[in-house]
Amino acid sequence: MSEGARQGAGSQTRTRLVERAAKLARTFGHDPEFSRGGGGNVSVKTDGVLYIKPSGVGLGSLSAGDLMPLDLEPLARLLGEGSDEHAASGSEAVMSVAMAARLRPSGDQRPSVEVLFHVLIPRRFVLHTHPTIVNAVCCAVDGVRVAHDLFGDAVLWVPYVNPGLPLARAIREARMSFEQQRSKPAPDVLLLQSHGLIAAGDEASAISTASWRVVGRIRGHLAGLERGANGADSAAAPPGAPSRELAEKLESALRTSLSRRSEPKVVVFDASPDAVRVATLELGRRLVLGGPITPDQIVYTGSWPLWLEMPEHMEALRLTRWVVDAALVRHFEAHHVLPTIVVAAGLGLFAAADSAREAETARDVYLDAIRIGFGASLLGGVRALEPDERRFIEEWEAEAYRRGVAAAGAG
Ligand SMILES: [Zn+2]
Repeated sequence: MSEGARQGAGSQTRTRLVERAAKLARTFGHDPEFSRGGGGNVSVKTDGVLYIKPSGVGLGSLSAGDLMPLDLEPLARLLGEGSDEHAASGSEAVMSVAMAARLRPSGDQRPSVEVLFHVLIPRRFVLHTHPTIVNAVCCAVDGVRVAHDLFGDAVLWVPYVNPGLPLARAIREARMSFEQQRSKPAPDVLLLQSHGLIAAGDEASAISTASWRVVGRIRGHLAGLERGANGADSAAAPPGAPSRELAEKLESALRTSLSRRSEPKVVVFDASPDAVRVATLELGRRLVLGGPITPDQIVYTGSWPLWLEMPEHMEALRLTRWVVDAALVRHFEAHHVLPTIVVAAGLGLFAAADSAREAETARDVYLDAIRIGFGASLLGGVRALEPDERRFIEEWEAEAYRRGVAAAGAG
C-alpha cells in the first residue's frame, strides 16, 4: 500500500470514529431518561488526539464537525502535576491548558469543563450522562452501599467533589485504589455521587449496552421496592385532579408579580403525575424544601424553589394575588433571589423564566430532580448537596453566565 493510501485509510478511520462518537451523543442526548437540557458530554481518542464535545452544544444535537480536536499530551501532563493550587483553582487552570491544546481554531468555543476525565479514562470512547434512574442511586444517602449491592466490582463509585480538575483527580484516585486493592483493571462504568454516569469502551456499542444494563438493573430494583412500599407515602397516588381554574389564576398572578420585580417572565404550569405527586405528598414538600440534590438542578432551576401553601378555602380566588405577593417577598428575603420553580401545595408546579424554552427546560430538570428524589427516598433517603458544594456550583454558574457560556455546556 502506498504512503498516500495509508494516510487516506487513517483519515477515514478517524472520520468514522468521530462520526460514531457524535451518533452516540445524539442517541443518548435525545433520550429524556439520560439527558435534559443537553447535559452530558462525549469524547473519542485516536492518534494522540481527543475529540470532545464543546461547551454550549447540547448532547442531542452534536454533529461530528462540532467535536473539538485537542492534543492529548499537555492535558495528560496537567493531570500528572501534583499541585494542589491547581486543584483549588479548578476549571480555570484546566480551561487555559485545554484552549492551548486545540488543534483547530474554534473562536470562543470552549471544550467541556469535564475534559480531563475523558483524558484519563484509557478507552477510545467515553460518554457521560445524567440518567434519572442512575441518579436515584447516586443521590441516595447510602448510595455507595446500594451501588455495591447491585453491581459489586462492575462499577466504580466516585464520591462527590467539585467539577473540573477536582473531579478528574477524584476519578483517577478511585481508579487507582480499585486497581491496587483488587489487582484488576478498574471498571469502565462509573457512578459519580450526586451527579451521574460515565461509561467507557473501545467500541461505542459497549457503552450503549453498559448504560442500558445499569439503568435496567436499578429500575428493576426500584420497582421491587415500590411494590414492597405498597401504599407508603412515597408510592401513594395523589388524590383528586387539581383545579384548573385555580392554576390559571395562580399562573397569571405569578407572571404579574415576578415580572414586576424583574424582567418580564414566561410562566408554565405542570400538573403531570410527578408534579401533582410532589405538590401533594409530605415527602414532596420535604424534597422541595430540602435543598438541591444535583448540580444540574442548581444550574437550570436555581437552588431554592418556592413552596406555596394555599389558603384553606381555595375558592377564595381573590386571595391569590395577595398570597403570591407575600410568598415572593418572604422567599426573596430568605434567599436573595426570585424562584424559578414554584410548587403550589395540592396543585402542581410552575416554572418561570425569561423565555418559554427556558421555563420548559427548568420544569423538565426540576421534574427530573423530583423523580431522582423519590427514587433515592425508596433507597433509604436523599442526600442534598452540602452548603459548600451548593455554593461552589452557584458561583461557578454565575461566572459562566457572565462569560455568556450557555448552561447547556455545564456537562
Ligand atoms: Zn455531568
